Amino acid sequence: MNLQPRFSRYLLTIAFASAFTIALDPARAQEAPAPGTHGVLLSNMDRSVKPGDNFFEFANGDWLRRTEIPADRAVISLFTSLDVVSNKRTSGIIEEAAKSSAPAGSEARKIADLYNSYMDEAGIEAKGLAPLRPHLDAVAAIKDKRDLAHALGESLRADVDALNNTNFHTPNLFGLWVAPNFNDVDHYTAYLLQGGVQLPDREYYLADNDHMRLVRTQYQTHVSAMLKLAGFTNTDARAAHILELEHAIAEKHLSLADNDDIHKANNPWKQSEFAVKAPGLDWTEFFRGAGLTKQTSFIVWQPTAFTGEAALVGSTSLETWKDWLAYHLIEAYAGALPKALADERFAFFGKALTGTPQQRPREQRGILIVNAFLGDAVGQIYAQRYFSPEAKAQAQAMVANIIAAFRKRIEALSWMDPKTKAEAQAKLTTLYVGIGYPETWEDYSGYEVKPGDLFGNLWRGRLFDYHRSLARLGQPIDRKQWSMTPQTVNAVNLPLQNALNFPAAILQPPFFDPLAPAATNYGAIGSVIGHEISHTFDTEGSAFDSKGAVRNWWTAADLAHFEEDTAKLAAQYDTYKPFPDLSVNGKQTLAENIADVAGIAASYDGYRASLGGKEAPVQGGFTGDQQFFIAFGQGWSQKTRDAALRQQVLTDSHAPAQYRADTVRNIDAWYNAFSVQAGEKLYLAPAERVRIW
Ligand SMILES: [Zn+2]
Repeated sequence: MNLQPRFSRYLLTIAFASAFTIALDPARAQEAPAPGTHGVLLSNMDRSVKPGDNFFEFANGDWLRRTEIPADRAVISLFTSLDVVSNKRTSGIIEEAAKSSAPAGSEARKIADLYNSYMDEAGIEAKGLAPLRPHLDAVAAIKDKRDLAHALGESLRADVDALNNTNFHTPNLFGLWVAPNFNDVDHYTAYLLQGGVQLPDREYYLADNDHMRLVRTQYQTHVSAMLKLAGFTNTDARAAHILELEHAIAEKHLSLADNDDIHKANNPWKQSEFAVKAPGLDWTEFFRGAGLTKQTSFIVWQPTAFTGEAALVGSTSLETWKDWLAYHLIEAYAGALPKALADERFAFFGKALTGTPQQRPREQRGILIVNAFLGDAVGQIYAQRYFSPEAKAQAQAMVANIIAAFRKRIEALSWMDPKTKAEAQAKLTTLYVGIGYPETWEDYSGYEVKPGDLFGNLWRGRLFDYHRSLARLGQPIDRKQWSMTPQTVNAVNLPLQNALNFPAAILQPPFFDPLAPAATNYGAIGSVIGHEISHTFDTEGSAFDSKGAVRNWWTAADLAHFEEDTAKLAAQYDTYKPFPDLSVNGKQTLAENIADVAGIAASYDGYRASLGGKEAPVQGGFTGDQQFFIAFGQGWSQKTRDAALRQQVLTDSHAPAQYRADTVRNIDAWYNAFSVQAGEKLYLAPAERVRIW
């Protein structure tokens, strides 16, 4: 599970026309601390607000008032300012590569050629639809359901991730995730996940309200427009059929809350069983198309969706499926095609779906492309340049203090069985905490990048990525393998590896500042570290033991107690209403909300321990404890466009930032720090506060 909302969900497709990304204009980003100041961002606060009434406003009020969401973004947040820094550095690395006239085949040359092929708009216009044509012809040549099954198999990519970067969405019929085997944790296996729709989630097809009805109407118009731009005729009727098919697929899908429940996901199917369990699709041809004939078994994450989607392959007309395939192909490569297609894609997925009026400058989208396909090639240089061994050592010391705090908290739990405690401690002992950058780097020698061939570069890039995943099947696992690049502003828990990654790009001010007081470093990045460690023990983590194996190491009594406590937290979040007609889903966001509360608690202990019994100096008029909580609250400074916020509430496992800041109301030390009294809006009586560990 990662720290931030899945705004990167569409990275590989929407990056060409994305709303959910970053701008390089530092003047519009949130101000980092002025030079010479370290710690709490005093000028962001609104001290006229009582911390006990609205902690989010207290910590961020002035920033919220003076900050506008730039036209080319759906969101602006503290993460944005770190993105700005990370992207400036990345763009510098790319520019250097472009100027270096590096030898053919070198990584620097690949970086330069990929970036330049994206920037060559005149070349892209001149080629027109030519690069897409052979692929559309292949779809047109499909003559029966057997050919169709083969083509559906060929479209399979390694584009989903159930537990690490948690992305359950693929527009392809299904998605592949190669990860340690639930039932043999020492080896990689193939997980198959539901897919087949373009809109972000089943709710977009099924929800019966005005907002979603409007989205569906706009979507159908968009599908028709894309087909027309790609040279199809009779596009209104085709679009209607495509929408009907996607609607039928969505009906078979599991909800996000169900997807997050790994106890429903461990469904090993032998390859030979697919035809019986999910008839309608010629699975032999599908696996042949996918290059998976040798893989004898799979873990099917959502069996009912597979049964339902395969049946739809059997029952829906070949012509509709061919149109669906063609449309999905056009959509996936719109960013590598003439401007008219890229603009139409943005008009729907950017403007209509997230409310973002403007597309980001092309250079910034180019950086995303390079990060998506050659992330480690850039990351290796990034880490050498921008993450010092001293910063790494300081972050590692914080991690050690926070792990020690978790150990004490677990030991002190009166309700947890001694055997459960022993396994929890074992998990802390074997936990791999990656700080800054990975121990080994991806090898891109098998990825061919050609100058002036954007379409081909993206096509080969996705295939390279897919084949790299296939090559891992059956191999022994590498527990130190990273799932984020150093230049990513995020953090992640990898439950099957019992590992955490904290990329260099999040370990910078104001989240982590080697010159700031301990209070603010623990409040900001420390709580993030605690958040990720907490996932090791939560509803998800309780299913994986110290080796990453799926084994419920909790007793029934432990689990009952935990569920009772955390149900209170779910109920607390259910009461939050970002819109009059839409509440936060306490169950869907529960694991993240647990991690937030536990993360603050453990980091607070780690912070107190780091003081060695002394009180921290007052700074800016705030005590050390106050600085700790304010720094936490400022970590969640964020403004989101309404449409994007609705999308997050419906499709994401992270609650809106404001409620994440206000979750300090569950921590006793926060009440002491700010003398919060009964009657104030965030006040919870001690018995109502949710204590996780
Ligand atoms: Zn999380």
